[in-house]
Amino acid sequence: MNQQYIVTHPWSIIEEGFDPERVKSSESLFSIGNGAMGQRANFEEQYSGPTFQGSYIAGVYYPDKTRVGWWKNGYPEYFAKVLNAPNWIGVNVSVDGEALDLHTCKSVDNFKRELDMKTGLYTRSFEATLQNGKTVKVEVLRFLSLDMDELGVIDYRVTPVNGSATISFTPYIDAGITNEDSNWDDKFWDIKGISASKSAAFIHSATEKTAFHVCTYMDSQVFLNDQPVSESGVDQTDKTASVTYSAQVAQGETINLEKYAGYTVSTNHDIDQLIPAAKAVLAKGMETGVKGLANAQAAAWEQIWAMADIQIEGDDKAQQGIRFNIFQLNQTYLGKDPRLNIGPKGFTGEKYGGSTYWDTEAYCLPFYMATKNQEVARNLLVYRYKHLQKAIENAEKLGFTDGAALYPMVTMNGEECHNEWEITFEEIHRNGAIAFAIFNYARYTGDTSYINEMGAEVLIGIARFWKQRATFSKQKDKYVILGVTGPNEYENNVNNNWYTNYSAQWCLNYAAAQMQRIQSESPEDYSRIAAKTNLSESELSDWTTVADGLYFPYSEEHGVFLQQDGFLDKELIEVSDLDPKQRPINQHWSWDRILRSPYIKQADTLQGFYFFEDQFTDEALEKHFDFYEPFTVHESSLSPCVHAIQAAKLGRMEQAYTFYLRTSRLDLDDYNKEVEEGCHITSMAGTWMSIVEGFAGFRIKDDKPSLNPRIPEQWGAYRFKVNFRGQILTVAIDAKTCSLSVAGDSAMDVTVNGTDYSLSAGETTTINL
Ligand code: BGC
Repeated sequence: MNQQYIVTHPWSIIEEGFDPERVKSSESLFSIGNGAMGQRANFEEQYSGPTFQGSYIAGVYYPDKTRVGWWKNGYPEYFAKVLNAPNWIGVNVSVDGEALDLHTCKSVDNFKRELDMKTGLYTRSFEATLQNGKTVKVEVLRFLSLDMDELGVIDYRVTPVNGSATISFTPYIDAGITNEDSNWDDKFWDIKGISASKSAAFIHSATEKTAFHVCTYMDSQVFLNDQPVSESGVDQTDKTASVTYSAQVAQGETINLEKYAGYTVSTNHDIDQLIPAAKAVLAKGMETGVKGLANAQAAAWEQIWAMADIQIEGDDKAQQGIRFNIFQLNQTYLGKDPRLNIGPKGFTGEKYGGSTYWDTEAYCLPFYMATKNQEVARNLLVYRYKHLQKAIENAEKLGFTDGAALYPMVTMNGEECHNEWEITFEEIHRNGAIAFAIFNYARYTGDTSYINEMGAEVLIGIARFWKQRATFSKQKDKYVILGVTGPNEYENNVNNNWYTNYSAQWCLNYAAAQMQRIQSESPEDYSRIAAKTNLSESELSDWTTVADGLYFPYSEEHGVFLQQDGFLDKELIEVSDLDPKQRPINQHWSWDRILRSPYIKQADTLQGFYFFEDQFTDEALEKHFDFYEPFTVHESSLSPCVHAIQAAKLGRMEQAYTFYLRTSRLDLDDYNKEVEEGCHITSMAGTWMSIVEGFAGFRIKDDKPSLNPRIPEQWGAYRFKVNFRGQILTVAIDAKTCSLSVAGDSAMDVTVNGTDYSLSAGETTTINL
């Protein structure tokens, strides 16, 4: 049974009732972020029960020295870790001298948290009876401003319920923090200075080794019945700074603390300007006030939702699921800063350390292409172009030459920092996703300028890698790719993983075709690129020779491509025949048992049928889907969305809907029993794809949007928008019709179920299905 305590609501994530067992899960689910920083939903007041403290600053990381059982040549020296940053949310609260701590209280009643996704405001309220018998009602509001992304706000209110009480607030900032995840228990932060005067405090700290300088700051004010309460003391330790306010509060009266806090970071300011910049943010924030900032927050979210929302009628669970996914994606990455990327856990946990995986290209790009301006998606591609040199060095380290590029499995700055040989050295299919994203972007936007200006160099590096990575097998008279891990990480060191071979072939052909296009369309660009990369024309034909000669394992008996050479040697027992108590298998089986099993962690062969679908018939898809789905355990969050899209394409809406719920409510219902560690941010873009590409069948074909609308039986209707080449197309689908309208002044050509339509600007065209 999955966890099911989150109240179903179309716009909010709600938890009712206090259960210490759920604290860590809720800390993940109620996380907040604004693209520049983010936090788990830790309590502001002291909490002595089990908790996972997490505050993160985008792009700030620490190179944690690699720890492995046995060193292998080629391993990266370090694993770049997203860092738990100094904490600015802390507010110690005492009631008649006793610390408010939900773990030690006599009772906690009417506990409720709500993350209102419409406005981006996170609230928490409860009534606590302390050991001293005093009962207080507490209401807390917290958000990270989207408009001022260096600022966060807390409004903390306490009302004594049974008699008057002395209430003290001690808001503090604390740089004495550690990471949950650390290889050698290194000290990650070095404190450079602490200053506090009156209500404001600043801690200047810097990361060891990477030297990111951060000023963590706060200011605050307290009101009793709207009258200011003065601070009674300022305190400083070698790691913290705090200020205390105290007042006698009568029963039924409310005392409230407004805390303004955040980070200024040396990636955006000169080091000597960190504190002045922090002061400027505080001044502006406090002048605007909690109410003004909260209103601005709601307005900023309204703008995001105006483009990104998907409305589902008649199914609140599904509605809540998709909004949660869209909300979290926007909390993680807004596309404002091209130096940043989308980490698999976003700001909700530390697992996966580095910020960038193939997830960005394979799963997130379509969401950002369709819901933001083209620039945002282009930035994601430029990010990889900037890392090309590092990818070439990474390949050189493994023995490749002549400009071959192997992009990292995990990275912060372009360097590989993953250190398990079966992934670092073998999960090389990531190169394919990066090349595919270039194609996908050009197909979606019609903009090939990125390829000419930058992408071609990336494609050349990748094609060179594949050419060198393939081996000619005399026995097979074919090129083979040996010793790889496909997307299914439950098989390692296999030969001829079909997905890897297929994407290698595709990359080699695409790189050659793009160079030929550039040569004929813009010979100057071609000469510049060829000179810069030392490209000879014979190289292009070498690439196509390898591509044409690649080997693909195939089973005549089953009529399917095999996931890898040895797949049929396995004992093919379907997942449905497994004891449910053994699942997820990665939490119950030894690794050795998993590797020998036929169980597929995530779409692998089917991932290829998703990317390269135009090259396969629906019959072929159906055959492969029916062959591989029964062995797929979906223990990667990236899996159910691909299956949802394919099930919908095959018209199996019941199955597609089941996969949809699994992807969209993966964290809310904790399908994989690990939400405590954080949410699965990158797969959330896959949820969006399940609806838009899956149910609605949205694709770009022949330079225009194409739809194949379907709807799950459980839904009355659904509606979404896409930004197609600067024009906003609204799509509304119910069981009988598909209505389309295009905003602006220009018409738009679309295809629905194979028929072409011309949409007039500003008018709605309704098509019977
Ligand atoms: C998946 C990878 C993915 C990574 C980060 C792993 O569990 O198998 O495909 O890149 O998580 O999301």
